[in-house]
Amino acid sequence: MDNCNESVADIFGSNVFNDTIMRQRLPKEVYRSLKKTILGYQQLDPAAADVIANAMKDWAIEKGATHFCHWFQPMTGLTAEKHDAFISPTSDGKTMLEFSGKELIKGEPDASSFPSGGLRATFEARGYTAWDCTSPVFVKGKGSNTILYIPSAFCSYTGDALDKKTPLLRSMDALNKQTMRVLRALGNKQSKHVAATLGPEQEYFLIDRSFFLERPDLILTGRTLFGASSPRGQEMEDHYFGALHERVASFMNEVNMELWKLGVAAKTQHNEVAPSQYELAPVFTTVNVATDHNQLTMEILQKVALQNDFVCLLHEKPFAGVNGSGKHNNWSMVTDDGFNLLEPGNTPHDNMVFLVVLSAVIRAVDKYAKLLRATVANAGNEHRLGANEAPPAIVSIFLGEQLTDIIEQLAAGGAKKSKQGGELKLGVSTLPTLPRDTTDRNRTSPFAFTGNKFEFRMVGSSQSTAGPMFVLNTIVADVLCEIADELEKAKTVETAAQKIIQKIANEHHRIIYNGDNYVPEWIEEAEKRGLPNMRSSVEAIGSIMDKQNVELFSKHKVLSKTELHARMDILFETYAKSINIEALTMLNIAKRQILPAAAEFSGSLGAGVSSITSAGSACVSQKKMLDEVCGLTDSLYRSIESLEAAVDKAAAVKDVPKHAAAYHDIVRPAMQKVREAADNLEKIVEADIWPLPTYAEMLFIK
Ligand code: ADP
Ligand code: MG
Repeated sequence: MDNCNESVADIFGSNVFNDTIMRQRLPKEVYRSLKKTILGYQQLDPAAADVIANAMKDWAIEKGATHFCHWFQPMTGLTAEKHDAFISPTSDGKTMLEFSGKELIKGEPDASSFPSGGLRATFEARGYTAWDCTSPVFVKGKGSNTILYIPSAFCSYTGDALDKKTPLLRSMDALNKQTMRVLRALGNKQSKHVAATLGPEQEYFLIDRSFFLERPDLILTGRTLFGASSPRGQEMEDHYFGALHERVASFMNEVNMELWKLGVAAKTQHNEVAPSQYELAPVFTTVNVATDHNQLTMEILQKVALQNDFVCLLHEKPFAGVNGSGKHNNWSMVTDDGFNLLEPGNTPHDNMVFLVVLSAVIRAVDKYAKLLRATVANAGNEHRLGANEAPPAIVSIFLGEQLTDIIEQLAAGGAKKSKQGGELKLGVSTLPTLPRDTTDRNRTSPFAFTGNKFEFRMVGSSQSTAGPMFVLNTIVADVLCEIADELEKAKTVETAAQKIIQKIANEHHRIIYNGDNYVPEWIEEAEKRGLPNMRSSVEAIGSIMDKQNVELFSKHKVLSKTELHARMDILFETYAKSINIEALTMLNIAKRQILPAAAEFSGSLGAGVSSITSAGSACVSQKKMLDEVCGLTDSLYRSIESLEAAVDKAAAVKDVPKHAAAYHDIVRPAMQKVREAADNLEKIVEADIWPLPTYAEMLFIK
């Protein structure tokens, strides 16, 4: 065992050009200069860039790399890369291996085919990638396909952000700036920097590859468009945290090894609620690196699954009737000297920082609830949110009984008592001493305080964490900016801070909800409280350009109005395209696989009925079966015709938001009808004739 642990220690980060390697391989001066750039204190010195590039190249070549690439995250939510060889031909017909500082810092992919939401016309298709030195460079691949990866931001000729990383980095700057103002005002003199942290818990399904290959819907859309419920679902609740199946355990080991090499601290793994559903969680890190790491995690999960004859499904709702997959985003803020700002402290002073930051989050989430909802709006997640599972579509905050009690007391004019802890300690202020670990586990809340961090649970399993996280960073930065404005001009900071906390507690109490988020009464209650409930992704996306959002992003220099608009358009278009692909796939399967199967079955029943009746028997049950099959086949046929008409109608709508709305309002319900008819047929058509692997097979056979 010792050997095994030693080798893990050797393996971890072995393919990353990390701090240790930089220290070893860079001249002292260059190393120091790069560190300053990484911390955001200065631009990279071009002379240093050449030295760094050269050191990276030598290291990468030792690892077997022949190429480098700028690795970026266009607005598809996926990653993109274009490989360039290190070779540089010489006049004597040979070649040198070169990599310059210029090549490290900047790339120019011809990027006309990435979504830009109208930001970049094809005639000026050039996009630029710029090295993001805050996320470490790494080597990935095998044998002759080993590449040096340079995490990069991606923008247009005019400097508009065309990716997910740029606004995330900008939002981190904004959050740092505003939080530091608040910390200084509250008397913190030593911290220099604040970073947002993220630990994303990734859920996914694993199914045997042989079933996947027989499901055109899974191949083309990532989810099953047909499938009657399995006689057994998740009702036995025996899968959650159950012992891992051997095949799955060995898959997970391989995933961990691959991730560890890349410096991704994959830590926790377990069975999830639904059969064949699993989760992987890393140790948290800064939100930018965590986002890159989550992209790598999704890629490695899929790659290693294939190597093990599995397919990894990252879709939010691959199977109707069993739980979908999310990506819980655990988020907090930490100072460079190691203070977690959401850690309730032991002294009144720490408490004040904690309560101010907590209040800022409460106000931000209430004020920008629609915007947060919009960050998780896609066609897949729509099947999850508000569908009696996972979190609902209503944004609310779980604080736990004790914190809620304190907030209520603050709202009423100052906290006097802590619910479980007896008298409050009164220090420089009347803020209470907060006991730790008093928050319960509430699994139904979309935005839960879990002891020393918030957990945003609405994020979909296939989504990049960048979108939800840059929005969360920015809305919190915005409220902290308001608070800093107040504190900086206050005569006594403690009194001012208390006033702010009290005001927020009063104004935003409605966003706090500690109960069960799945019960229907909550929907009524939320409505009474005036909380938005947007079950439709299209509605949520449509709220992005609300005035307060446009002002928010431009004030904190995270996105200009044009950049924001482009993002909204892309979300609408992606939504419409996803449903269009699903509808066309559905029609294809219904017409070419399911109808023929139904016809074959009714044909054989019919032949049986004629021969049995001519032999003189009444043939009652076969006739009934035949009638039922024919009836269902007719309704399938009619629903197919309606779906075809719906798709034509939606496709013809030109206006971008209306186009998306048509897919939501017209195509989705028509698809539901086709599915119902087909799933009913599945329940009676002879198993050997049915053309698709069943839910029972996919979810229970390994
Ligand atoms: P759960 O009980 O919700 O399954 P865990 O305790 O396993 O969660 O932690 C979930 C995730 O939260 C992990 O990725 C962990 O690293 C992360 N996490 C813990 N502390 C912080 C923090 N301060 N900031 C961000 N993420 C954190
Ligand atoms: Mg969790």
